[in-house]
Amino acid sequence: MSELRKLGEGEKFSHATVGSINGFNGKVFIKDELKETSCEISFGTLEPGQAVPFFHSHKANEENYIILSGEGSFQVNSDVFSIAEGSIIRVATNCDRNLRNTSETASLVYICIQAKEGSLDGYTMTDAVITGRESLL
Ligand code: ZN
Repeated sequence: MSELRKLGEGEKFSHATVGSINGFNGKVFIKDELKETSCEISFGTLEPGQAVPFFHSHKANEENYIILSGEGSFQVNSDVFSIAEGSIIRVATNCDRNLRNTSETASLVYICIQAKEGSLDGYTMTDAVITGRESLL
């Protein structure tokens, strides 16, 4: 089972790792260790043929699934579609969702990001400010 390992923390940041994505195994939640305040991020794995053992719905959070490797099927209410490495799926609140690994040999590895539906006000250049700090990189 892969684990989240904290690497560092400063006044304005937290840094952790789940290790190599190639070979990632299990389920890891990030929010508490990184002290996230706007979203929950989890890494998950489904073994060949495996599905999440239940359907679930969210009351306030939309979910964004990012498929890092493998292939499978995704169901939202009664809609079913294929997913594969590189797929990104947004699921709204108040609907049932599940995913299954349809490969016979390879794991399906994904990231799920939960964030409050409708909460994004500014982003990229409507939120970012270019500053004059000297680079130390
Ligand atoms: Zn969920």
